Parts: sequence; structure tokens; C-alpha cells
Amino acid sequence: MSDCIFCKIVEGKIPCKKVYEDEDMLAFHDINPQAPVHFMIIPKKHVASLAHAGDADAPVLGRMLAAAGRLAREQGAPDGFRTIINTGRIGRQDVYHLHIHILGGKEPLGRMMPREGA
Ligand code: AMP
Ligand code: ZN
Repeated sequence: MSDCIFCKIVEGKIPCKKVYEDEDMLAFHDINPQAPVHFMIIPKKHVASLAHAGDADAPVLGRMLAAAGRLAREQGAPDGFRTIINTGRIGRQDVYHLHIHILGGKEPLGRMMPREGA
């Protein structure tokens, strides 16, 4: 999709700090990391969000999830990590090309959903 920033990264028109690539997916570091390890895994095919994914996307989405553990270990999250897929307005999605955030490091992360004001 021509005006999609992650499609431009897939096409090499915008640089990224690559973690992994194969024919179906690309993983690269988040430009604004929220944890010592923070990268994203995206399908090379433009899928706007998880809400737009269908049965045809299932094999690639499965492969993306299956790659997460190995890539997280390789990037310095040996003992677990968090996966986040922000979806749509309610999920506060900013970039409308489906992506799995992988966050971790050597120490436990904060709670997943801190209450407002807590
Ligand atoms: P989301 O709110 O889940 O849509 O998050 C989009 C993420 O993409 C944010 O964490 C951004 O920091 C990240 N991001 C935006 N542009 C780039 C870029 N050019 N390279 C790497 N990460 C990016
Ligand atoms: Zn795209």
C-alpha cells in the first residue's frame, strides 16, 4: 500500500534496524523503544490490522507468533517477553499495518494495564 510506512520499510524505501526477514515477514526494532528489547514482527503483505485479518492470513500470522520466542531470545529477552497487538481506535493503533510488538529484557516489565492514576 503506497502510503503505508511499514510497507515502505518492507520495500526498503525507509530504513529499519532489521531483526529478521523471510519471504513472509519482517522483524525490526521499534524506533521509540518502550523496553530494553522492543521490536516488531510484521507480515510483508499489507494487512491493516488484526481486525482486518482473515483465514488467508492465518499461516503467516502463525509463523510470526512461532518466530517470536526465538527472536526474543536472540535479541536479549531470554526469560520471557510481552506481545502486544494494538488494534484500531480502541486499541490505540497508530500504524495501520498489522504488527506484533515484542517487549522484554532481563528484568520483569511493568504490569500490563496499570489503572489510570495508579
Ligand atoms: P502502534 O501504536 O501499535 O500502531 O505502534 C506503532 C509503533 O511503530 C510505535 O511503537 C512506533 O514507535 C513505531 N514506529 C513508527 N514508525 C517507525 C519506524 N519508521 N521504524 C520503526 N518503528 C516505527
Ligand atoms: Zn502496509
